[in-house]
Amino acid sequence: MADFYADLHIHTLYSDGVYSPRDIVDNSIKSGIFVIAIADHDSVSGIDEAIEYAKNRIEIIPAVELSSNIGSCDIHILGYYIDHHSSDFLNYLEEFKKYRFIRAKKIVEKLCRAGIEIDFEQVKQIAKNSVMGRPHIAEALMETGYVRSISEAFSRYLGYHCPYYEPKKEISPKAAIEKIKKCGGIPVVAHPGMIGADSGLLYKLISDGILGIEVWHPEHTQRQEDDFYEIAMKHDLLMTGGSDFHGYPRGHCKIGEYGCSKSEVVYLKELACKKTAQH
Ligand code: AMP
Ligand code: ZN
Ligand code: FE
Ligand code: FE
Repeated sequence: MADFYADLHIHTLYSDGVYSPRDIVDNSIKSGIFVIAIADHDSVSGIDEAIEYAKNRIEIIPAVELSSNIGSCDIHILGYYIDHHSSDFLNYLEEFKKYRFIRAKKIVEKLCRAGIEIDFEQVKQIAKNSVMGRPHIAEALMETGYVRSISEAFSRYLGYHCPYYEPKKEISPKAAIEKIKKCGGIPVVAHPGMIGADSGLLYKLISDGILGIEVWHPEHTQRQEDDFYEIAMKHDLLMTGGSDFHGYPRGHCKIGEYGCSKSEVVYLKELACKKTAQH
């Protein structure tokens, strides 16, 4: 049985995950979990497929993980119960996807100039029609034999500290939060521990309009979870958790091994209903 009631952070191959929405649904049902959120990077393309295929065998929450940044610090904002058919929102995502494509091309060009010769056509084949990200380039580096694992690709060639790094399109957390709210979603800061977020940054995000904190995440330490829990309690914020499952062979945990309990999902739904009533 799954350890948790809900896993509110799962990726599919519509961004940089390995599995299709159908595979995610099958795996989630097998795991024994009751609720999952499909939360792809800057994409909502996997949501309907998952909902239709699930046919109420498991509850699917429509979600997204928007990229935003403050300078060179990437801040991911999860949006739960967004209207994933909103044309405004879909236009924004389509635009962002184009930028991501150009950015990936730039990274590949930089690598080639430095003698690390991977073919952008290969990256395109790996990414297919998904939102292109660094993991797709990492896979090409692996296939070409430059590295032996995705994490080696990140530490040697693709990390922020590397000379080949290229930022994504600039968007402030505040703007991302507002985009999510505008299409009826509940904005939650994703894995703040992974960006070393201190209380100062969290207070800034609270004043920007964040309604929740992803407290439980496989990359968080116990200490970080305790700190985020306290801040969330103090500010009456929603607390969420999830596996951030991508399906890579090593590293992150499996679906349902990380998540949150029923009471958090109930609170999330209350917030979403309030939001709908305000519209
Ligand atoms: P991007 O959105 O293109 O900047 O790529 C970021 C994504 O790459 C993250 O969401 C993770 O899925 C993945 N990632 C980042 N760092 C690592 C790492 N060290 N090892 C494996 N995957 C990583
Ligand atoms: Zn990812
Ligand atoms: Fe993330
Ligand atoms: Fe994620």
